Amino acid sequence: MYKSLLKMPEKIQQRIEDLRAELHQYNYDYYILDAAPISDFEFDLKLKELQELEKMHPEFYDANSPTLRVGGEITKNFPTIQHQFRMYSLDNSYDFDDLEDWEKRLIKTIDEPVEFVAELKYDGASISILYENGKLKQAVTRGDGFQGDEITANVKTISDIPLTLKGDFPSPFFMRGEIYLTRKNFDNINVRREEEGLDLFMNPRNTASGSLKMQDSGEVSKRKLSAVLYQFISAETPAETHWELLQNSRKWGFKVSDQAKLCKNLDEIKDFINYWDEHRHKLPFEIDGIVLKVNSIKQQSQLGFTAKSPRWAMAYKFKAEKVETELVTVTYQVGRTGAITPVANLKPVLLAGTIVKRASLHNEDIIKKLGLHEHDFVYVEKGGEIIPKIVGINEDKRKPDSQEIQYITHCPECGTELVRTEDQAIHFCPNDLHCPPQVVGRMIHYVSRKALNIEGLGAETIEQLYREKLVENPADFYTLTKEQILPLERMAEKSAQNIIDGVENSKQIPFEKVLFGIGIKHVGETVAKKLAKNFDTIDDLKNATAEDLIQVDDIGGKIAESIVNFFNDSENILMIERLKSYGVHLEKGESTSEVLSTVLENKTFLFTGKLSLFTREAAEEMVEKHGGKNISAVSKNLNYLVVGEKAGSKLKKAQDIGTIEILDEQEFLDLVNQH
Ligand code: AMP
Ligand code: ZN
Repeated sequence: MYKSLLKMPEKIQQRIEDLRAELHQYNYDYYILDAAPISDFEFDLKLKELQELEKMHPEFYDANSPTLRVGGEITKNFPTIQHQFRMYSLDNSYDFDDLEDWEKRLIKTIDEPVEFVAELKYDGASISILYENGKLKQAVTRGDGFQGDEITANVKTISDIPLTLKGDFPSPFFMRGEIYLTRKNFDNINVRREEEGLDLFMNPRNTASGSLKMQDSGEVSKRKLSAVLYQFISAETPAETHWELLQNSRKWGFKVSDQAKLCKNLDEIKDFINYWDEHRHKLPFEIDGIVLKVNSIKQQSQLGFTAKSPRWAMAYKFKAEKVETELVTVTYQVGRTGAITPVANLKPVLLAGTIVKRASLHNEDIIKKLGLHEHDFVYVEKGGEIIPKIVGINEDKRKPDSQEIQYITHCPECGTELVRTEDQAIHFCPNDLHCPPQVVGRMIHYVSRKALNIEGLGAETIEQLYREKLVENPADFYTLTKEQILPLERMAEKSAQNIIDGVENSKQIPFEKVLFGIGIKHVGETVAKKLAKNFDTIDDLKNATAEDLIQVDDIGGKIAESIVNFFNDSENILMIERLKSYGVHLEKGESTSEVLSTVLENKTFLFTGKLSLFTREAAEEMVEKHGGKNISAVSKNLNYLVVGEKAGSKLKKAQDIGTIEILDEQEFLDLVNQH
């Protein structure tokens, strides 16, 4: 197919462009208008088709293709970008007196009536996005307000943010807004993390801003971030009021808040605030207040800025709700990594729309700092965190004979003496091979998607299997029989077969993922990949000394020590030997990547600078698929250096060597397509 399609490039280009236009429109209908003109299935089909065409035809690259929503681009270091227009903070107010003072200050400068736009204050991470000729050009975080990090590839994955605009938009301009996570998507992320045995995220805001800084935009895409745009900025403002700008922005394809309201005076503002203070818990996302903005652009410029914030805008912060209730007991949970979390069990109480029965106490130091005693009456607050917090104690209600809470010294699950880490205040149970939650956690990690990806084996099933003494470590999965699984609760013939098949299929999973799956402490996905690159078999890794290991890029003393310790344990060795005997990949296999041609055979390549026609990953893949080899440094062994924008020292070094051919991106494509 590849060759026959190549013969009609105009047709392919047309098809690519049609698909792009269609998918942009669909995205707009779905995310901005909340309508669904075609099914998800049809959408996925079209997206897949486009992805494949683009992969085969990098010459039709478009920096704003809808396929960028899926992500995949890796950014190692986010470049720092100066904001053309500074991103100011907002002044805060906490009660209606503060607002009345603000209004008085406004009237001093402006002697005509002042109108306001009241908006929700979304609790996320702010972003500034540059649009040129109706296309998303660059997205930058707030940073310190003067300069931020460029995170364009990550922002492009967010479906609420248009990649191309509609109608008679101006150019260029900046659109500012907030990137956030809905409560539901936040919960889903944590459910998945729990299944994979990872630590849970604390709150949607930190998770949203953390997600924006992930290196792999494919991972960002999976976080399902949302966005709302609330501020248009350009050298010349094409409207007289902020309200008009919001309405126009909506027409150009931006997602603008439906809750924003035009308010004629302070009374209308107070109504808006009271309404949302009461109803905010019913919103699908979190807000931490209200933002008020003077509507007239002319008045805005008359008012100007202080050193930190615009005089024409004001944030109103909601008070965190606080209630008093009684402490029943403190219990201690043992996590799947062995970390101990103390939990306060409380007399149930209504707080911010939900009934609260428990609060996290985090660690021993926090309990000590609070001075918590048995059956204390405590103040509980729900701030940014999903899990409520104990913020104080009503000591007047403490009974005179009440004892101070003593932190446990031994693991409540296995009785082993706990250890406390020096750098953090957290206690751990060191019995990682036999402490029940840790044993289960290790097996859950083994089957998780990024490891052996055994579908059908969820956390609950593993817990049941463990209770029934059918499995104790990952090697036991491979001797499970259908007869053993079937009697489990809620287990049917089909799901039992799925497990058996899933276990069987896991024997195809490559070495690097198995290395990640066996759960060596501190060996995450990236480290596992590095190890698999440098050690051909698990035995090579087992025989490596700490000194050998440290030679590998990115592997430091802590990881090296942990690897050595792992292989010093006879139970681990036994598990490895068993896995080997069942046919799990414990050595590097042949590379299976498909080969398209041999035009680059015996040629070595290196890419440098900012590439614009394709990503570095795609380029390196192309090299491999056409028989070439990628190398990582400029040397006499290098045949081609492909340079993008702003190439630096590598280019100079290549020129000095003199024998290296230097190509731009288009020349590289021509070389690949020469046949
Ligand atoms: P603060 O961080 O408390 O100084 O508040 C300022 C921040 O509020 C801005 O940087 C924005 O990220 C955020 N914000 C949320 N919603 C809005 C909104 N509707 N208008 C302006 N800023 C907002
Ligand atoms: Zn334990």
